[in-house]
Amino acid sequence: MGSKFYGEIIATGSELMLGQTVDTNSAWLSQILNTAGVPVVRHTSLGDDLPRLKEAFKRAWADNQVTLVTGGLGPTEDDLTRRAAAEAFELELEFQEDLAAQLKDMFQRRGYPLTENNLRQAWLPGGTAMVPNPLGTAPGFALADAGRLMVFLPGVPPEMKRMVKAWVLPRLREQFPDICRRFKTVVLKTGGLGESMVDDRVADLMAPGRSPTVGLLASPDQVRVLVTAEGRDDREIEEALAPTLAELDKRLAGHIFARQDNISLPQAVAALLQEQGLTLIILDAITQGRLSGALAPSLGPETWSGAQDLPWQESLSGTLEILRLYNPDSAALKDSEAVPARRCQQEVRLIVTARPDPGAPEPRPGESALMVESAVQREGYQNGQPLVRHYALGGATNRALARAANLAIFHLWQVLSGHH
Ligand code: ATP
Repeated sequence: MGSKFYGEIIATGSELMLGQTVDTNSAWLSQILNTAGVPVVRHTSLGDDLPRLKEAFKRAWADNQVTLVTGGLGPTEDDLTRRAAAEAFELELEFQEDLAAQLKDMFQRRGYPLTENNLRQAWLPGGTAMVPNPLGTAPGFALADAGRLMVFLPGVPPEMKRMVKAWVLPRLREQFPDICRRFKTVVLKTGGLGESMVDDRVADLMAPGRSPTVGLLASPDQVRVLVTAEGRDDREIEEALAPTLAELDKRLAGHIFARQDNISLPQAVAALLQEQGLTLIILDAITQGRLSGALAPSLGPETWSGAQDLPWQESLSGTLEILRLYNPDSAALKDSEAVPARRCQQEVRLIVTARPDPGAPEPRPGESALMVESAVQREGYQNGQPLVRHYALGGATNRALARAANLAIFHLWQVLSGHH
């Protein structure tokens, strides 16, 4: 493959021209193509107009190696893509018996009458490959020669995306193995460190031009570290990722609570409680339910709540919300019967309290200046002494309390995972 290898996206549909639909398909397809190693050099957007569609298809085929077209494959009169493609490339529209049978079958199963219109979708330009549409009725089609690929996809975003993942990407890799590379991003989710602190520890790994690339994404209660490597196959990618991931493990030791984007801090805590067969007791004097509210959905149903006689209770002032969250899957619990009998279950306690921060100026209305204390106490650890942390939290009270809840949960995670 020569060095000139480019991609183009064509979005069709008069609703795009009228401004009734925002063209999100082109943005998504552009990301997909660029990520796959095909630089996108042109976006074309046009209405349902036969001569303009033909001209755009011909020009894209002449100029660029990969073109993805969306829209206009439906059964109605204004869905012109099939006809425009056939006329542009001087192909006959051919009736695909198999496809017609599939359409009839699909309509029958869904209980809709099949109209003549629907059967329009069974006509495809001769010599093109059918691109299956598992989510809808309109299949796509693809035109290819040795050095080019042009794929026509439906406009409906979920259908189009599914077809790109299932058909277009594998096809690109197969047809252009020298161009198309695979990418993998590992997401390390960290807690207990602000963005600038994480940045401080990993800045040199984020230098421009370095591979794998390392990037940070900060939100109020976590910083995500994204590590992306590319390669021809899984082995090459894993080899490229390994040294950087090992280095990040060292630099962020004790702060990485998940290595997958879809695992939240409460879920990571819940997994550890489950693994260790622990029941969590929360004494929350300040977050107004934010702490248990964040944890409970991951932990299972709340099974007991109310005041409880606990030894360290006397030393605390203020209103205590006492919530007992049982770990529903722990083996010990499965064998136990009534709630009181569960008292002997191994427990971990999280106690969160606060007092005014003596070092901070008087807060304005709606704001707070708190010295928050989280204490984690676990049977059999540190002779039963709690592990205590303090956090000075200021600003809007809502945000300070949410932050207190998050820091306390992170503290609990560190104790449970042995990183304290
Ligand atoms: P259908 O079988 O539904 O007719 P089609 O291929 O004919 O599919 P269009 O009729 O062009 O697709 O578009 C169907 C719907 O998909 C539009 O009404 C719009 O909601 C959405 N859509 C189309 N093009 C785009 C686009 N470029 N970006 C985002 N959404 C789009």
